[in-house]
Amino acid sequence: MRGDPPATELDWLAYDAVLFDLDGVITPTAAVHERAWAELFAGHGYTDGDYLTHIDGKPRYDGVAAFLASREIELPWGDPDDGPEAETVCGLGNRKNRLFNEILDREPLAPYEGTVAVLDLLDVQGVAQAIVSSSRNAHRVLAAAGMATRFPVIVDGARAAEEGLRGKPDPHMFERAADLLEVERDRAIVVEDAVAGVQAGVAGAFGYVLGIDRGGNRQALTDAGATLVVDDLADTLPAVRR
Ligand SMILES: [Mg+2]
Repeated sequence: MRGDPPATELDWLAYDAVLFDLDGVITPTAAVHERAWAELFAGHGYTDGDYLTHIDGKPRYDGVAAFLASREIELPWGDPDDGPEAETVCGLGNRKNRLFNEILDREPLAPYEGTVAVLDLLDVQGVAQAIVSSSRNAHRVLAAAGMATRFPVIVDGARAAEEGLRGKPDPHMFERAADLLEVERDRAIVVEDAVAGVQAGVAGAFGYVLGIDRGGNRQALTDAGATLVVDDLADTLPAVRR
């Protein structure tokens, strides 16, 4: 006797395109960011707890300022154009970005296996794919993951700035990717691990919004309107493909 398929399965092939967020969906990029912060503040007794307390989720310069305040270190704010050697909040923030890129340059960044399984399925079946990421480092992250040429369309932070695209939770960047792939929005799946990204998929009336919960975010992604929330993309595949 056959039961219904598990409630986490998604019929990927019923859609024309899939628009993937990058950090936390394709690659575990957060771990690289955490390491760059640890290298930046290594001389100041930095611990993992500092990341969660002072840095996680904040814009980069605000994270620098919060950590420095916790050590009672006062530096001028400076300017975003400050070089990475400058002893300013912005300079330290830019140094952290340089450390992040240096880690990516010297070490491969393994993509999530479950994501690769879905990408391979989509490739075989000819379903179009794009990356939609707020990051300005998207091309470097993809290169570190061995995917420099895998995606024909990449709408990232740099492109958004060039073209004046509004950032998530506005659906503008996802809409641009769908247009570049020449697919209708209701024929495209959005895959996101962030609340703002799920909100963008919902606001853009995309055909399906898949939320990825990498830890403790399930309720928030559900509340934001995700069609389905899973822990990993592998959970959406029939057991025979996992
Ligand atoms: Mg993300």
